[in-house]
Amino acid sequence: MSAADRQKIAAINVSATAVVTLASCYVQKHARTWREAGRCLGIGAIAGAGFYQAKRFAGRGDITEGWLLANAATSLVENTTAGEHPLGRIGYTFGPFRLRLVTPLDRARESIVDIDVSLAETIYLARMLNDADDVDVRDGMLWWETRDPVREDDRLFLGYTWGIYPGAWTRARETTWNHEAVHAVQALQTDSVDPPAITLAQKPRPIRFRHLRLGALNLADNVVHAQLVDYEDRWAEIEAYRLSGDEAPPR
Ligand SMILES: [Zn+2]
Repeated sequence: MSAADRQKIAAINVSATAVVTLASCYVQKHARTWREAGRCLGIGAIAGAGFYQAKRFAGRGDITEGWLLANAATSLVENTTAGEHPLGRIGYTFGPFRLRLVTPLDRARESIVDIDVSLAETIYLARMLNDADDVDVRDGMLWWETRDPVREDDRLFLGYTWGIYPGAWTRARETTWNHEAVHAVQALQTDSVDPPAITLAQKPRPIRFRHLRLGALNLADNVVHAQLVDYEDRWAEIEAYRLSGDEAPPR
C-alpha cells in the first residue's frame, strides 16, 4: 500500500473518530466546557489512530491483535463520552454483549464488571445465524461460514459481515477473511460512540447488566449506505479493500 493511501486512511480515521466522539460527549452532556470538548476530541483522535492500526492488523491477517486493539480503542471512546476516566474500564465485546472490567483508574468503583447489551448486534446476530451454515469462535470473535456464496441482487459475495460478525464462503481466499475482519472492526468502531439508551442496574454490585445500547448509528449507517451509495463508492469497502488486499473495490 502506498504511503499516501495509508496516510489518507489514517487521517480519516483519526479525524472522523475525534469528531464523532465529541458529538457523543455532547449528547451525553460531557462536553460542557472547552476543556471537556478538547479532551473528547483528543482522546477520540487517539482512539481513531488505534482503530486504524486495528484495521491494518486485521487486514494483514493478524485478526486477534486487531480485535483486541479495536476493543481498547472502543474503551477509550465509551469511557470518555460517559465522562469517566479514559482508562477507567477496559471492555471486550463478544456477540451482543460488551464486558467492561473496572481498572484502578475508575473513580466511581460501582462494580467489577459491567455488562452492556447492544440491540443492533442482537439483530445482526439473528441475521447472521439465519445465513450461516456454520458458526465458530475464532480470533476472539464469532465467525460464520456459508457453503454457498451470498447472493444479493446481481452481485455475488464471497464474504459477508453482519455488524461485528464476519463471515465468508467456506472456500474463500485468505484476503476475503481478512477483508471481512476489517468490516467487523469498523462495526465496533461505529458502536463505540453509541450512547446508552437505557441504564439497567443503578445500584453498585460486583457484576451487573448496566446499559442497553441501540446501535442506532450502526443500523442507520448500514441502511443509508446500502440504499444510497454504490458498492464501490462505500467508504467501508474502499478501506477494507485497501487494507486487506491493497486494491480498489471491484466495479
Ligand atoms: Zn466488503
